[in-house]
Amino acid sequence: MLLSITTEHPPATDLGYLLHKHPGRLQTFDLSFGKAHVFYPEADENRCTACLLLDIDPVGMVRGKNRSQGDLLARYVNDRPYVASSFLSVAISQVLGAAMSGRCKDRPELADTPLPLAARIDVLPVRGGERFLRQLFEPLGYTVEAEAYPLDEKFPAWGNSPYFSVTIRGVTTLSQLLTHLYVLVPVFDNEKHYFVGEAELEKLLAKGGGWLTAHPEKDQITRRYLKHRYGLYREALSRLIEVEELQAPPDEQTASAEEETLERSVSLNDQRHGAVLAALKASGARSVLDLGCGEGKLLRQLLPENQFEQIVGVDVSIRSLEMAQKRLKLDRLPPRQAERLKLLHGSLIYRDRRLEGFDAAAVVEVIEHLDPPRLTALERAVFEFARPKIVVVTTPNQEYNVMWESLPAGQFRHADHRFEWTRAQFQAWAGRICQAFGYTVRYLPVGPEDEKVGSPTQMGVFEF
Ligand code: SAH
Repeated sequence: MLLSITTEHPPATDLGYLLHKHPGRLQTFDLSFGKAHVFYPEADENRCTACLLLDIDPVGMVRGKNRSQGDLLARYVNDRPYVASSFLSVAISQVLGAAMSGRCKDRPELADTPLPLAARIDVLPVRGGERFLRQLFEPLGYTVEAEAYPLDEKFPAWGNSPYFSVTIRGVTTLSQLLTHLYVLVPVFDNEKHYFVGEAELEKLLAKGGGWLTAHPEKDQITRRYLKHRYGLYREALSRLIEVEELQAPPDEQTASAEEETLERSVSLNDQRHGAVLAALKASGARSVLDLGCGEGKLLRQLLPENQFEQIVGVDVSIRSLEMAQKRLKLDRLPPRQAERLKLLHGSLIYRDRRLEGFDAAAVVEVIEHLDPPRLTALERAVFEFARPKIVVVTTPNQEYNVMWESLPAGQFRHADHRFEWTRAQFQAWAGRICQAFGYTVRYLPVGPEDEKVGSPTQMGVFEF
């Protein structure tokens, strides 16, 4: 298994400083699974290549282990010595650790400088094919060259193997490049030579925190990195979300303003929060979640009600939470009051233990902001995991849109809405929720009710 890193940025031999490995020498390191050699097949002003060659000892790895376990032949005869796998990640961190963490003793400024770099891996098993290879590297700014190998040269009809020689090129710091390889190589391979536990989760968060959150394939990467250990996977995603500023689209502010203007004539917002508040009060709840609390309009109404001993607002948008903090004047509340109210940054599409054990939850004008897979995830996170005794959900009634003359036909009330449901659609959804999670539901109209099209907002009160 060979990793070659090349730069043509003069003086190219600076690569030696960055890697903390002298271009003139062969260096060998003992690792638990064999040896790692570092050498430079070429090193001059204009082009320099450093190679990390892993010499994995499959027999040594089996020696001393319990022979009765597993398939013995497969433990001696396998692809591990020849392919890039989690062994490569271990070698990168042990042999090139300083370079990966961005330290450069002799030329500190070099470590922070993006350079044109190419990394070639011979060979990488890609479970998921060339498309998956591109889906993972291209969003990180690399161009990808992949050379596939046939399963057997003598039998072309058998097609290609999962093995590729892969070259990625990009202008980046060496530290970033090594970090990307460290995390992604085991993801392609989808096999791990060590037990995957909490330590792996911490590694993934430490190495991936800066870039993984924005990666479109972060779900897949996390799931495979943690080897399909779902508990760990969920925790990782929810913690990645904490570093993620899920930016509202730039026009979110104006879109909100538009929606408000549209609805102002009936001050629908107030009526909605009033209706939710009434349902929560009537339920006798003492602890309440406001899920997708936005700028805290409902929270402001909950706060004066002494019945609610514990009030928690949750939102994925940091900006909204900051506005809520200001709006509620949290820093100026007397300590007894401030203790009752907490704002949490989190996403409702992941299980979050902080949200368990509450009497009630409000989900006001949130579901229509989620596309179908996310909505399915929210359903489980709220009704299966957080599982409050009462959940109040509101969403626009699409039928009512004809009543607003300023809203062009077929258009949603808010630019970020993924759907707006008719009453029948909302009730079909609610029915499914009740069946799946053992709740019962009743429906209440919010706002002026029209005989034909109903009220502008529909509300479902779920209880078990
Ligand atoms: N409930 C508030 C805000 C509704 S706007 C009110 O009635 O005024 C929708 C809110 O849901 C936004 O603040 C948005 O940031 C939040 N949101 C959208 N997706 C979310 C998610 N996955 N997790 C948590 N909050 C989310």
